[in-house]
Amino acid sequence: MGYVVGVDLGGTQIRACLADMKGSILCEARQPTLAKEGLQPVLQRMKETIAQVLHGISGIEVLGIGVGSPGPLDPRTGVVIAPPNLPGWRNVPLREILSQEFGLPVYVNNDANVAALAEQRFGAGRGCSDIVYLTISTGIGGGVISSGQLLLGAHGLAGEPGHTTVEPAGPRCNCGNVGCLEMMAAGPAIARHALDLMQQGQHSTLWAVVQGGMELTAEMVGRAAQEGDDVALQAVARAAHYLGIGVLNLIHIFDPDRVILGGGVSKLGSLLFDPVRAWVREHAMTDLQRETPVVPAALGDQVGLLGAVAWAMDRISSL
Ligand SMILES: [Zn+2]
Repeated sequence: MGYVVGVDLGGTQIRACLADMKGSILCEARQPTLAKEGLQPVLQRMKETIAQVLHGISGIEVLGIGVGSPGPLDPRTGVVIAPPNLPGWRNVPLREILSQEFGLPVYVNNDANVAALAEQRFGAGRGCSDIVYLTISTGIGGGVISSGQLLLGAHGLAGEPGHTTVEPAGPRCNCGNVGCLEMMAAGPAIARHALDLMQQGQHSTLWAVVQGGMELTAEMVGRAAQEGDDVALQAVARAAHYLGIGVLNLIHIFDPDRVILGGGVSKLGSLLFDPVRAWVREHAMTDLQRETPVVPAALGDQVGLLGAVAWAMDRISSL
């Protein structure tokens, strides 16, 4: 049996693992990314982390290296274009660099896309051929598996539900578009809306945080919502409303077996999921689509590593 190396290049941590073709992890290594140090030091740390897992176990055949990296990037060439959270990275031929270093085939794809693949192979989408996956935290990323295949698009840029407009009157997004799902439903939007409501004079337990000069986070708003704070509940409900619109748009386009929601904001649980499910039930085109399950992600913080493993396995088996 062959093995693959999976690499999760994140803004804060670089992780690597050695896994078998069933997705069982044999060994793992990690170190901080220290992204601020720029391209070369980060590449060096990536190489060290990969070498650690490659040399950790002897006498096995490693078939390739899968990498999940912040996008935008081109999965066909393995060139990382210009990720906002990796300063100094511009058109980096990551596939070529790592393949020269280790003498193995390397398969690079964006982190949210490979996370979708991981959830479909090993997580909440197991047994499904068609899934839509969204990860909701400080931004919204995603990926679509259609007929068992990760959808790449003409330029390798498919699966960006976070940058579809759900509110034309909404604020401008970093991507240049307006009222993106990310601007309306990700963590910062939840915090911003809670702040707006308080500044309009509504009372909240969160006001003490603002008055104390601390920055309000979605996590604080989420906790207050779970304790029944009205402003926090409104802020979460507003995000869930837009998320419902976004999710139903995706259901109508891709007709998935299920929609999987992950990322920090998804930990709000029923406060977030119930309104999304209600929107789908009320507004979907057909009975079948109304019943589309909207479920939490299952893989936790292993999703990036397992995604890189799944992407490598996928490419190797399609050769
Ligand atoms: Zn956008």
